[in-house]
Amino acid sequence: MNKLKILLVLMGLFSMGTLWSAPGLIIQNPGNYPVNSAELNHHYQVAYDLFSREVGPLKVPLTISIAPRDCVRTGYNFVNNQVVFCSNERVINLGLDSVDVIYHEMFHAFICNFSRNLCGNNMRVDVHEGLADYFAHLINPDTYFGENFYRGLGYIREYRTTWRPGLVQGDHERGNAYASSLIQSRASLRSALRLFSTPPQPEEVEDIITGPSKSKLNRYRLKANEIMGVEFRFAPAAQVARVVWKLPPGVLIQEISPKSFRIKAAQAIPASKGFAIFLNRNGSELGSRTYYFASKFD
Ligand SMILES: [Zn+2]
Repeated sequence: MNKLKILLVLMGLFSMGTLWSAPGLIIQNPGNYPVNSAELNHHYQVAYDLFSREVGPLKVPLTISIAPRDCVRTGYNFVNNQVVFCSNERVINLGLDSVDVIYHEMFHAFICNFSRNLCGNNMRVDVHEGLADYFAHLINPDTYFGENFYRGLGYIREYRTTWRPGLVQGDHERGNAYASSLIQSRASLRSALRLFSTPPQPEEVEDIITGPSKSKLNRYRLKANEIMGVEFRFAPAAQVARVVWKLPPGVLIQEISPKSFRIKAAQAIPASKGFAIFLNRNGSELGSRTYYFASKFD
């Protein structure tokens, strides 16, 4: 009888133990790609410790899939809830050598397993990206995100940026701006999650186009020597002082004022893109817009 009691108590302790420990890492490796599982488990444990301490414990294990069939791109797959590592000639060792990328992708999985409401069709991808970068920085605080990822490139991006969320376009760029200000304010991960409930940052720039009709996707077909006017209007809080352009060969620019320009294609140009870069008084880059140009023939 006493023995049974002891056994029941021990079983109780054991189940409590499993309740509070990490739900575990599953590594699927159908092609037996050489992987350092001990290292991945270590990264998982470090990441899970931070997440569970600051945000909350999870019940679902994390699944990592190494070079599965139809592997497209290293990253978190929001649909099948797996972190996948894919072979790519531009990427070193499927991305497995980049701890920042591993922690970034693990964060996406953790937050989706924590609350499915934060992931799905209308999710705030910019906030996801910013918090995932911030998460990687909390574990591995240094200047650069994503060393040892791309062949021939030292890193993917700098954590700190002068970009404003309202003046950049892509989710990673907006995320970069969020992560940068979280790093500056040394926010706790828990308080950083409030970004999910704040409304998206409104755009701080509008361009007034004359000549060709305005394109929402910034795609313009220009006849030879046709003039396209571009005037930028910025939110005063953004404090943009001037705009500089990086344009493809054959696309010419005339500055009317620091924020107003005339563009023309001097000749037939191949489809190409150019950038309007927004600078503050000190010449720091606050953001940019991409424009796509091609020739129009009568
Ligand atoms: Zn991401």
